[in-house]
Amino acid sequence: MDILDVEKSKCIGCGACVSIDAEHFDFDSDGLSEVISNENLKSEALQTAIESCPTGAIRLAKTDDAYEGDVTMDDDYQQTSTVMATKSES
Ligand code: SF4
Repeated sequence: MDILDVEKSKCIGCGACVSIDAEHFDFDSDGLSEVISNENLKSEALQTAIESCPTGAIRLAKTDDAYEGDVTMDDDYQQTSTVMATKSES
């Protein structure tokens, strides 16, 4: 599963992503971008927004990449453990 994320420390609040793709981005109370939807992640507007971010703050990552080591669900934990074990064997 993919997950969309804005790295707040990199966001400068320029608004490009919000203008281009209002389905996925809006401003938070600090004037920085925040993700408002994790649906329709293959949309053309989202790809354009990611490419247009001047600081590279927008990430579209696999759930395991984004939250490795921070998983609380048992099923996900087992899945992450399997992935990590596979990685360490290669
Ligand atoms: S385009 Fe990038 S820097 Fe600009 S508001 Fe969006 S996430 Fe922040």
